[in-house]
Amino acid sequence: MTIQLPSKVKFIIDTLTEAGYEAYAVGGCVRDSILGRSPEDWDITTSASPYQVKQLFHKSIDTGIQHGTVTIIEGKESFEVTTYRLDGEYEDKRHPKEVIFTANLIEDLKRRDFTINAMAYNETQGLVDVFDGIGDLKKGQIRCVGNPRERFMEDALRMMRAVRFAAQLGFYIEENTREMISILANNLSEISVERIQAELVKLLLSDHPEEMRTVYEIGLSKIFLPEFDRMMVTPQNNPFHCYNVGEHTLAALQNIRKDKVLRLTMLLHDVAKPLCKVTDEKGIYHFYGHPIKGAQIAKEILQRLKFDNDTITRVTALVTWHDDMPPLKKAAVRRAIHRVGLEQYPELFEVKRADTLAKSLYKREEKLSYIAGYEQMYQDILNKGQCLTLKQLAINGKDLIKMGIKPGKEMGDLLEHLLEHVLEYPEDNTYKILSNLIKTERKLE
Ligand code: ATP
Ligand code: MG
Repeated sequence: MTIQLPSKVKFIIDTLTEAGYEAYAVGGCVRDSILGRSPEDWDITTSASPYQVKQLFHKSIDTGIQHGTVTIIEGKESFEVTTYRLDGEYEDKRHPKEVIFTANLIEDLKRRDFTINAMAYNETQGLVDVFDGIGDLKKGQIRCVGNPRERFMEDALRMMRAVRFAAQLGFYIEENTREMISILANNLSEISVERIQAELVKLLLSDHPEEMRTVYEIGLSKIFLPEFDRMMVTPQNNPFHCYNVGEHTLAALQNIRKDKVLRLTMLLHDVAKPLCKVTDEKGIYHFYGHPIKGAQIAKEILQRLKFDNDTITRVTALVTWHDDMPPLKKAAVRRAIHRVGLEQYPELFEVKRADTLAKSLYKREEKLSYIAGYEQMYQDILNKGQCLTLKQLAINGKDLIKMGIKPGKEMGDLLEHLLEHVLEYPEDNTYKILSNLIKTERKLE
C-alpha cells in the first residue's frame, strides 16, 4: 500500500524523522487516501513532544498544546501535529482534562474511535493498520476500535460520529457497534450541543443525509432532536403524499444540494406537521398552518442547537414560505417576493422543487410547471429592475421630510403604502408620480 503524501506533509514527517523522532500521517487523511477521496486536512502523529515539535519548525501555533497538538504553518497551509497520547483524558468536576503522552504509536492508535480512522502511514514503515481498518474499508463498515461499550462510555459523541462517517462514506455501522449505540444512546445528553451540532451538520452535508433515519433508529435523535422522532411516526394520509412525514423529509433532504441552510430547511420544513394534523370527513389528513408553526419550532430547535443567527433567520424564512403559492400574475408575484423577502430567492425555488419531488406522483407535473412559471416571472421581474423593496422606491424618507412629513410611524406607513402601489403599478415608480400621489392623498385627508 502506497499513499501519495503531499510534499509539505512529507517535509514535516522527514524533518521529525531526521531529528530522531517517529512521525506518521494518521486518521482521516489515511482513510480518505485509501478510498481515493481527497482528504480535508492532513494530521500528523509523532513521538516528539509538543515542545520538541516547536523547536523544529519556523512557524507554529499552540492550538491545543495541553492535548499535545501544535499547528505547523508551511506557506499558506497548516498541519496539526499531535504527540502520541493515551486516552487518559477525562473530565469531572475536580480534575482538569488530563493527557498522558506515550512513546508508542500503537497506544495512540488504540485511543481512536473507529478502525478506519486508526491507521497511520509513512514512507519508511508503510501502512500501520493493527485493527484491520483496511478490511473494514473494503466491507464498507464503521466498527469501533476495541470494545464498543468502553469506547462509547469514554466519549458519547463517537455515537454521532459513527453515523456521520456512515453518511459521508456510504458505509453501514457494524452490528456490535450499532447495537451498543442503541444501548448507550442516552449518554449523548452529556455531550455539549456545539459538538453535536458539528456532527449533525457534517451528516446533513454528506452524500447520504438520509442517514438521519439511522440517527432516529438507534435512538440518538430523541436526545437532541425529539421533534424528528415525531415526524418519523406521523403518517400523511393524503393523495399528494406517498411517505410519512419523516420519510418525506429524508427524501426532500436527498433532493437538495449540499448547502447548510438548504439542508436544514428541508430537515425542518414540515417539523410542525405532527402538531397541525387534522382529519377531514373523508379520512384525509391536512396540516393547515404547518409552515408558520414550523418556522417557530425550527427557530427554537436551531437556537437550542446553538446555530448562528444568520442561519436561523434564513432557515426560518424558507420554512415559513415553503408552501406559499402566489397566483402566477405579475403583480401577485411581485407582492409575494416582497412578502417573502428578496433574500430568500432563488433558494426558495430549490426548496419547493425538493419538496415536490419528495411527494407522490399525483399532480407532480402541474406542480413542477407552476414552480417553473413562478421562477420565470421572478426572473423577468428582476431583469426589468422592477421595484420590490423600500430601498428601490423612487422616493425616500429624506424626500418625505422635505415635503413636511415627520419621521416615525406615519412615514413608515406611507412608504409601505407607496411600495404596495408600485408593486401593483411598477411604471409608477418615479419621483414625480409618487410625490404627486402623496400630495393628492394628503389633500383628501
Ligand atoms: P474529517 O476531518 O473529514 O471530519 P477525520 O477522520 O479527520 O474526518 P477528525 O474529527 O478531524 O476526523 O479527527 C481526526 C482523527 O482523530 C480521526 O480520524 C480519529 O482518528 C481521531 N478522533 C477524532 N475525534 C475522535 C473521538 N471523539 N474519539 C476518538 N478518536 C477521535
Ligand atoms: Mg480531520
